[in-house]
Amino acid sequence: MIAPPGAGKGTQGAVIATHFDIPHVAMGDLLRDHVARQTELGRAVQQHLERGELVPDEIVLDMVKEAFLAAKRAGNGYVLNGIPRNIEQARATYRIALELDMTANVALHLQADDDELVRRLLARATVEGRSDDTEDVIRKRLGVYHDVTHPIVSWSGERGILVSVDAMRPAGGGRRT
Ligand code: ADP
Repeated sequence: MIAPPGAGKGTQGAVIATHFDIPHVAMGDLLRDHVARQTELGRAVQQHLERGELVPDEIVLDMVKEAFLAAKRAGNGYVLNGIPRNIEQARATYRIALELDMTANVALHLQADDDELVRRLLARATVEGRSDDTEDVIRKRLGVYHDVTHPIVSWSGERGILVSVDAMRPAGGGRRT
């Protein structure tokens, strides 16, 4: 899944994973879990998350490789959510998947306007209390998305696996309010 913060990739990724009964590999959740448990990895990435900056590629690539191996053992596929997040990660993830004969069939791109994304994330902040859901850090995360993540959309298009979806509507479908 390729999506800016607040587009609903966590929500939709979970729905897709449940539908196909496959693992949902949500990189942000995995990293936040390490931070919450204050593991060595969690302590290493905490500041990056709090500032809305990407954590180093080696860290997430090691984690995604483990997730691929687990998904391979389970047998049916996977939803990758939050990775790849820059072109280097996209190429490396593709190479890892190729070795395991597990390259993605679909790159699902969720599209939404920045104003709507900021509105949703600020609303979520009051409910979930994520430390990176402050207006400054939200703007930083959106900037990172536009600068380094969004180029993966055209890269996926060239690979012939791109599906773009309007993510301005509410999660369960229906009309935009
Ligand atoms: P969002 O898309 O709302 O920003 P995520 O939960 O996907 O939320 O990611 C939260 C944070 O975790 C990111 O701002 C970044 O610090 C870190 N992160 C998640 N995935 C990656 C990744 N693939 N590469 C580097 N950092 C990542």
